Amino acid sequence: MSNFSPIVGSDYPFPAKPTVLSEQEKLDYKTKIKQLLIDKDAVLVAHYYTAPEIQALAEETGGYVADSLEMARFGRDHSAKTLIIAGVRFMGETAKILTPHKTVLMSDLEATCSLDVGCPIESFSEFCDQHPERTVVVYANTSAAVKARADWVVTSSIALDIVEHLDSEGKKIIWGPDRHLGGYIQSKTQADMLMWQGDCIVHDEFKASALRDMKAVYPDAAVLVHPESPESVVKLADAVGSTSQLIKAAQELPNKQFIVATDTGIFYKMQQVCPDKEFLAAPTAGDGATCRSCAHCPWMAMNSLKAIYNALTDATGHEIHVPETVAQGALVSLNRMLDFAAEQQLKVKGNA
Ligand code: SF4
Repeated sequence: MSNFSPIVGSDYPFPAKPTVLSEQEKLDYKTKIKQLLIDKDAVLVAHYYTAPEIQALAEETGGYVADSLEMARFGRDHSAKTLIIAGVRFMGETAKILTPHKTVLMSDLEATCSLDVGCPIESFSEFCDQHPERTVVVYANTSAAVKARADWVVTSSIALDIVEHLDSEGKKIIWGPDRHLGGYIQSKTQADMLMWQGDCIVHDEFKASALRDMKAVYPDAAVLVHPESPESVVKLADAVGSTSQLIKAAQELPNKQFIVATDTGIFYKMQQVCPDKEFLAAPTAGDGATCRSCAHCPWMAMNSLKAIYNALTDATGHEIHVPETVAQGALVSLNRMLDFAAEQQLKVKGNA
């Protein structure tokens, strides 16, 4: 294991909490945004962790709500001239890299991710340079520069398959930045992986002892866990997976109650696809708790209807730009993932 240890959780500069809008203000902004999307030939692409009203608006206007892999694919394939990304910065950068001819707007360019912040290109590159024989695999939650340094980009929905594939070819891997997701994949594949020691400040906060207590209170509930969570929490799961895989598990498992260890933003979609089931947030409190995010990402929370309206009204300070040389490098590792995902889909169809 590497000894690189980036910023510790409590040192992250958290953004201020967003202003809460009244129901009337939300309605007014929704009406205005709907018109602006038409006027600007724009489409709203939202992540599962954004506020329910943003996810609903994306769906009502022909946009999309998804995990980061599907957001990237949707943005790339949609005909709109402008993409407005409700998510965090690396998602906007990915959209821009895949569709450089489109205008890519974000409701707030300061909306980042602890994994991205905790994996600066200079030190990550130095780490890679020390192990030139290894294939560099990075999680999508990284800067464009880190993606350009990598051989492969992965999202949590496809990471396991790609590492399995590389391991079957005898490749040794450098994995960054999420140590929990990397550890989970290593435990499943036994691949030779050297880890960067980053973590997600939301998932890292889930507590196994408090989760055990909660399971005792809800004995019939199934536990759904995102693999960015600590190993002790993953071990208590009935299903482990990316956001879209957890939504699928909620639909397919027979349980009527679920304890969910991921950002609570996902409850909007889970409740929509399973209206007769109950979803409970996994605990971030209990022994050793230092929770500052309480199962909701402070950077995802920067996305608001007001911020989306502002971005569509005046793009200044909202448009994503990626330097061309960086974009070209990142495109290679991103396309490897997208091509791999497309091949896998073809295989699934062929076997169906
Ligand atoms: Fe990053 Fe975690 Fe926030 Fe996702 S929830 S954007 S991984 S800090």
